[in-house]
Amino acid sequence: MPEVILPCPACGSIDCECLFAEDEMYSVDCVDCSMRGPAERNPDSAISAWNTLPRALRWTHEPPNVAGWYFQRAMGKEKTQRIAFVSATLSGLHCKCGCSSRPLAHWVEFEWAGPIPAPID
Ligand SMILES: [Zn+2]
Repeated sequence: MPEVILPCPACGSIDCECLFAEDEMYSVDCVDCSMRGPAERNPDSAISAWNTLPRALRWTHEPPNVAGWYFQRAMGKEKTQRIAFVSATLSGLHCKCGCSSRPLAHWVEFEWAGPIPAPID
């Protein structure tokens, strides 16, 4: 069974379709922004390749529930955006950001985006 086609990584549109491209290759294309996924030999491979493209993180008011790197900003203040590291400790999640280091529960009135995926070799 073919995979579901995920929304466009560039614009978030769900109006994306797998099309026959030139040279007997297939790719998933976004109708709204014209982004084109990697060309593959068959539709299933084209959809798989499209689905593995990195997608934008979304800001949320929900605090992190797993360890990792996050974008963090004061609620409603875009210019305060910075990177925070959330680690798991025996007493729960802990957040280190700039020169502050305190339990995650003490970071109130913040927005979060993440976890930011780690690079692979
Ligand atoms: Zn798009």
